[in-house]
Amino acid sequence: MGNPIIVERGPGVRVVASPSTWIEGEALRQLDQTATLPGMRQTVGMPDLHPGKGNPVGAAFLSEGLFYPALVGSDIGCGMSLWQSDLPVKKARPDKLAARLEGLDTPWEGDIAAWLAERDLPSGEFDDSLGTPGFGNHFAEIQAVHSIEDAGRFAASGLDADSLCVLVHTGSRGLGEAILRRHLTAHGAGGVAEGSEAASAYLTAHDQAVRWAEANRDLVAHRVLTAIGAKGRRLLDVCHNGVTASCGCWLHRKGAAPSDKGLVVIPGSRGALSYLVDPVREREEALWSLAHGAGRKMARHEAKGKLRNLYRREDLDRNAYGGRIVCGSEQLLWEEAPEAYKDVDQVVGDLADAGLLTIVAAFRPLVTFKA
Ligand code: 5GP
Ligand code: MN
Ligand code: MN
Repeated sequence: MGNPIIVERGPGVRVVASPSTWIEGEALRQLDQTATLPGMRQTVGMPDLHPGKGNPVGAAFLSEGLFYPALVGSDIGCGMSLWQSDLPVKKARPDKLAARLEGLDTPWEGDIAAWLAERDLPSGEFDDSLGTPGFGNHFAEIQAVHSIEDAGRFAASGLDADSLCVLVHTGSRGLGEAILRRHLTAHGAGGVAEGSEAASAYLTAHDQAVRWAEANRDLVAHRVLTAIGAKGRRLLDVCHNGVTASCGCWLHRKGAAPSDKGLVVIPGSRGALSYLVDPVREREEALWSLAHGAGRKMARHEAKGKLRNLYRREDLDRNAYGGRIVCGSEQLLWEEAPEAYKDVDQVVGDLADAGLLTIVAAFRPLVTFKA
């Protein structure tokens, strides 16, 4: 391949990562395992690769003739959306903004049925969670432009360097979970033959969950913008969990952003920069995909024990950029600590060195909401 960052591990299995980027052995084992599934043609791990529930996160999988709902996982449609607000960064006070974000985890009081109907989505069982980011790794974050790396692309993006941005990470909540559970209960974890009834039932539900997740991100962003008294415009919405038909095959992404749909944002953690990147198209060897974040370095249960000495309790809800964290759970503050994630600069640097993207800008976190 001639590119030292893209490493062939075996037939049809490769990893995009420089030798100094740490990838847990268990994640590589899971990756190799997926490559042995019937019909699997290509499996690619990104530099944010880490172990998941049976299958790795931070990877793309290309199969032929059949696809695997278990590889998409339960949060069908999970993704990131980035919004430009009209509030000047200069006037932003993290403490004041933080206070405005309290309550973002409670059901939205607006007309959910109308919000869904405007997006051609039916009302359903999980409506109460629409407009809430959900638990753990999901978040809403108010950010400021920290550096511009490519002035031309930055100008073309329409971003305003002097106004706040909002980054939302959430998915399809209980809806996606129910879809996967129903499918696994009826059909097991094996491949689903294309054209079968099981395939069309799953794909119909999957596509709806992908649109529901996007509607959810739109509503979370709307709530954040309203809470801080801003107007906003969506710059991008990128789904990192899903399966689509591609070149006669099935392309699964599990924690992998598409590189064929325009700008992508790759976040680090509540204490690190997030990168706006312009993917290089037509990179088949990376399965038209990029990393979706920094990726976990520590399992949730490890975090508190290993990080206890790094923090005083009163500093847990602040970041190194003078930003604030709004989070009701002390346990989660540990589990989601910046040190529990890999170094996003290195992850994005690997992708740039592999020739997969151009860095456009970096954002720093001012207020992070997690529930
Ligand atoms: P996922 O949970 O979808 O697998 O990954 C989301 C990615 O978002 C993680 O890999 C991590 O790098 C990033 N991330 C997690 N929590 C936060 C946060 O609070 N703020 C920011 N900016 N990024 C985060
Ligand atoms: Mn998710
Ligand atoms: Mn996600």
